[in-house]
Amino acid sequence: MYDYDLLVVGSANADLVIGVERRPAAGETVLGGDLAVHPGGKGANQAVAAARLGAATALLARVGDDGHGRLLIDSLRTAGVDTAGVLVGGAPTGVALITVDPSGDNSIVVSPGANGRLTPEDVRAADGLLRTSRVVSTQLEIPLETVVEVVRSLPEGGRLVLNPSPPRPLPAEVLAACDPLIVNEHEAKVILGDSAAGDTPEDWARRLLAEGPRSVVVTLGAEGALVAETRTETERRTDESGAGVGGAVGGGVDVEVTRVASVRVDAVDTTGAGDAFTAALAWRLGTGATLAEAAGYAARVGAAAVTRRGAQESFPTGAEVEAL
Ligand code: ATP
Repeated sequence: MYDYDLLVVGSANADLVIGVERRPAAGETVLGGDLAVHPGGKGANQAVAAARLGAATALLARVGDDGHGRLLIDSLRTAGVDTAGVLVGGAPTGVALITVDPSGDNSIVVSPGANGRLTPEDVRAADGLLRTSRVVSTQLEIPLETVVEVVRSLPEGGRLVLNPSPPRPLPAEVLAACDPLIVNEHEAKVILGDSAAGDTPEDWARRLLAEGPRSVVVTLGAEGALVAETRTETERRTDESGAGVGGAVGGGVDVEVTRVASVRVDAVDTTGAGDAFTAALAWRLGTGATLAEAAGYAARVGAAAVTRRGAQESFPTGAEVEAL
């Protein structure tokens, strides 16, 4: 009945990276090293991460009818992602222009390009993909109205995972569909507003859950993650086991917040860790794992991803995760 474990609806970008001695000031020209072109964008990253783990994965995205678009489609196919839903044309492929200095500080200009032309109409036309995918994952590098249409087009019983990145306040309709909403510290603060500044991650998780999602995950980098569900949801779905789960850290009247242990690794580059984590978690949920189990597995995938440089290049295979 299902063709795909995971459908990712999101962005695909070409990341154009130049190393420089010093990032240019206004009006200044500096010489840099050789241009490196990397496939990127949160949607493509998540699709590649899931496929590399072994998930049957499809991507609904839009690229330009240009060399960058062809490069992205090639890299997705090489990773094993079904690209039938990658639409071509309408604008140039999205690009991130990145200059990095020797200390690792960077300046980035993003042209969303074709990502900004992925429309609600495109989502409606991809109804077949939505109906044949166990889990749908999306982010905010595409128009919000397109994300809203994903919510409205979810089939009965369909499960949506949302990483609201780049963060912005979300309509109640979108928040209510998230199961889970996955945020890092910065995203939690934007969604909760400035009043969240003094709160602990446990507070963010509880307050985010009160905004309407069916479940919430807060990622904490090397500290692992927190998962939060209402007790009614937990009882409905809980399983006794919980790989990687360090135990409950607190609960309000009706909220269960559980800490997911991190895996100790030598981190060399955290780029893409959040995308790898989200893709892994979404995939595992579709296989019947509880939220805590899925987050425990995702924490291992995120940890593996930070041990290598780059985004997509750093994503582990299923076997590499098992070996960790
Ligand atoms: P990014 O925006 O850099 O892709 P993010 O801020 O969205 O990432 P993080 O919280 O940094 O997300 O990382 C996601 C998950 O990856 C974490 O919850 C954790 O499980 C794992 N992880 C990240 N950094 C480390 C690390 N240094 N050591 C071990 N695990 C890590």
